[in-house]
Amino acid sequence: MMQQKNQQTDAVIIGAGPVGSYTALRLAMLNVKTDVYEEHTEIGLPSHCAGHISIRSLKAIGYYPLPKGIIENTFNAANFYSPSGTKFSVRLKTPVTCALNRAKFDQYIANQAQRAGATFHLGQPVQSLRVENGYVKGVNLKDGTPVPSKITIDTEGISSRLLHQAKLKGLNGKGLVYAVETEIDQVHDVEPHAVEVYMGSNAPGFYGWLIPRPDGSAKLGLATDHGNPQTYLRNLMTKHPIAKRQVKGAKIFKTNYHAITLAGPINKAYSNGFLAVGDVASQVKPTTGGGVIFGLTCGEIAAKVAKSALNSGDVSAKTLSAYQKHCNKTLNFDISFMLRLRQFLNSLSDERWNSVLRFCNRLGVDKALSDVEEIDYQGRMITQVATKPAILVALGYFGLLYLLANP
Ligand SMILES: Cc1cc2nc3c(=O)[nH]c(=O)nc-3n(C[C@H](O)[C@H](O)[C@H](O)COP(=O)(O)OP(=O)(O)OC[C@H]3O[C@@H](n4cnc5c(N)ncnc54)[C@H](O)[C@@H]3O)c2cc1C
Repeated sequence: MMQQKNQQTDAVIIGAGPVGSYTALRLAMLNVKTDVYEEHTEIGLPSHCAGHISIRSLKAIGYYPLPKGIIENTFNAANFYSPSGTKFSVRLKTPVTCALNRAKFDQYIANQAQRAGATFHLGQPVQSLRVENGYVKGVNLKDGTPVPSKITIDTEGISSRLLHQAKLKGLNGKGLVYAVETEIDQVHDVEPHAVEVYMGSNAPGFYGWLIPRPDGSAKLGLATDHGNPQTYLRNLMTKHPIAKRQVKGAKIFKTNYHAITLAGPINKAYSNGFLAVGDVASQVKPTTGGGVIFGLTCGEIAAKVAKSALNSGDVSAKTLSAYQKHCNKTLNFDISFMLRLRQFLNSLSDERWNSVLRFCNRLGVDKALSDVEEIDYQGRMITQVATKPAILVALGYFGLLYLLANP
């Protein structure tokens, strides 16, 4: 299925992460001749992601259930801890999230895309965009091979090395946190279907997480907006009153470092002959750093807009701006809410974390949240539960703290 190099294709996709492969799948399903170029020789590896995803969102795109081995665990609870160990738990009626094996998930999507007709070229880094008369007209590979294309879709992830060649502005480091994600061989005193979340100065600007597997192993990680995440992780494992007990004696057998973007989507993710989708366009939740669902959602939009532009023979920025409009309509309400929530979370001192978590316990916020199913579109989720008295009071209290912290 390898395409003859130099032969013009309809759509070139840069990067076979989940977003690139899913966009390729949707394009191939629309009968668009699609070629995906991936710098690594194996899809999904190295994996940098915790793979914690909402079941409802996976269902909405037809990815739940998934073939055996891709879903590692499901969760109906989360325990939040302050740095001194104050705990607040949310227990839901049914499992709402799952942990995916990201490498297997990425491979599954790529296989689907190949079966639908997309061609994958592995171990083929894209060096640059081919720009002619203000239009992106394909890519040049690292080995010098030109790949002409009617439309180019950039799904290269957070590195965003190529974006500026399409005259688009990336994040320039704004809103980035730096993550360390590890695999550990054993955990103790951990509920099998609960995610552990460590807030406050243990991971400034983000949080730490522990995602258990049924075999007793777990994914453990954190991200920070400054300092060395590895140092913070060591401190979490040795000094946090709860985490140190949970990971006592555990051995780390895999470690990965990667950045997460929390700034919200870039303002413009299209130009003549070009679309940017996924992490490269910062289509990521500012609260949790989850980018898989938003990226796949925007990948589907990109495929539809690209198909219609190719049909009309007009791939100008004006035509492709439909992509931006549709993505904004889908994500912007929730993103604005999450940006404020992120600002609020970042403003809390360790002392405040204790009082916030105690306050949530006293108020019964856990019970008020017990029938929540939506966790990706958090703006919508809050509007659904905001009628409950405990949530209303909590929102009022958080609003006050937010105003005090951001006068
Ligand atoms: C520690 C950590 C934990 C996370 N946990 C979660 C989570 O629990 N849930 C969630 O939803 N999200 C999570 N995320 C975010 C999630 O991983 C990303 O949002 C998601 O991977 C974005 O997919 P993508 O396809 O846009 O980019 P990527 O997955 O980064 O894929 C980009 C692909 O492009 C390739 N590439 C790059 N440059 C080139 C080039 N020049 N030529 C060819 N190929 C190229 C790369 O090799 C890669 O395969 C996490 C991120 C981190 C760092």
